[in-house]
Amino acid sequence: MKNKNSQIIDYKTSGDQIMHEVKIASDIACLNYDEIELLHTPQRSLEAAIPIRMDNGKIQVFKGYRVQHNNVRGPYKGGTRFHPEVDINEVSALAFWMSIKCAVVDVPFGGAKGGIAVDSKKLSKQELEKLTRAYVRSLYGFVGSEIDIPAPDVYTNSQIMAWFMDEFNRLNGKNIPGIVTGKPIEVGGSFGRETATAQGGFYVLEALIEKLKIKKSNLTLVIQGFGNAGLNFAKIASIAGFRIIGVSDSRGGIYNQDGLNIKELINYKISTGSVIGYNKSEVLKQDQILELKTDILVPSALGGVITQDNVKKIKAKIILELANGPVDYQASLELFDKNVYVVPGVLANAGGVIVSYFEWLQNQQNFYWDFNEINIKLKEKILKAFENIWKTRNKYNVNMRTAAYIIAIERIGKAMNLRGV
Ligand code: NAD
Repeated sequence: MKNKNSQIIDYKTSGDQIMHEVKIASDIACLNYDEIELLHTPQRSLEAAIPIRMDNGKIQVFKGYRVQHNNVRGPYKGGTRFHPEVDINEVSALAFWMSIKCAVVDVPFGGAKGGIAVDSKKLSKQELEKLTRAYVRSLYGFVGSEIDIPAPDVYTNSQIMAWFMDEFNRLNGKNIPGIVTGKPIEVGGSFGRETATAQGGFYVLEALIEKLKIKKSNLTLVIQGFGNAGLNFAKIASIAGFRIIGVSDSRGGIYNQDGLNIKELINYKISTGSVIGYNKSEVLKQDQILELKTDILVPSALGGVITQDNVKKIKAKIILELANGPVDYQASLELFDKNVYVVPGVLANAGGVIVSYFEWLQNQQNFYWDFNEINIKLKEKILKAFENIWKTRNKYNVNMRTAAYIIAIERIGKAMNLRGV
């Protein structure tokens, strides 16, 4: 299949890049919503200084962000990232993708994202709690269960969400669990949220394999990133019989052509903090993990890891973007030309926001579903989105990423048009 939309663009920011893709998708599908110009600029961007007193008695000031991209289809929704490289550009692009993602899988939310520029591994538990609570105070008035609902992302987890909810409810004077999703079960979380991103991605991968009529037995898989998304994906895929030959985390990668023992490896990672040092494997450098000969590659760490610099070295036939934006736009076009199937993050990792939506719904109605019910609902919703993307891809002869954008713009554009500017 020949790619229709290859052209070189000099991107200033990822937000510009996403807008460019939005316009291409609109042109291909003849979507004439001039309202979509509004998507270029987030509706609100918050930047705050967050001072906390560290364990050594000294004050340290961190920079916190929350970008509310668009709420035309419902309250803003998006994760919270604690990472040293978080900045306003990254958060804005991630917020934009959330608007697209919520529309692609048809959950009634808009897009947002937040974060703090911090190396959270260097903080004590007390410092992390103080930082989270101070961040909530800086956002108070701008977030809420009907306004903007945060969730976990890179280096944030259910404990951080519990602190977030607690601080918000102290300020608010009411017990509103739906202020955040990704909470522990004991304080209003949902069954299946912890594994939702990985599980949703796995359902999509299985559906794609079926479409492509590939024999399932002994397919090899490589996973970059071994946190919430990557580790849970490894667990699910290994139980299903995939041979996972390589994984990596922030310290580097490991490889075993015969397949890694994932159960053992997870125990090793939990007890030592890294996959490095696991004995039945060879150590690899960060970039080598992406270049391994494998059937399926699952980038599950950070964005922008497959670009023009390394795309020619990628050997996988399927790339499942569990991370947000791991394959940049130009690389995705090149991969399309080489018949590599890239499942875009706005679908592949949407299991997280789908079950977040279920968590929020359960909080709103104060009535809770069991694990089985959540999984059935997740599968139904994400596969419906996959089928829709597959049909759109075939209709317009585009890659799955452009197809996803076409669907999202149709929904967002229509909503904007109906509501009026
Ligand atoms: P996490 O903090 O639980 O895990 C991140 C993992 O990436 C860790 O294992 C870390 O060691 C590893 N990592 C960091 N830098 C790396 C590098 N340079 N090379 C290789 N590995 C590296 O985060 P997560 O929640 O698993 O999120 C991972 C990705 O998935 C992010 O892009 C996030 O936006 C996306 N995502 C997560 C969710 C969710 O529900 N958690 C939902 C949608 C998308």
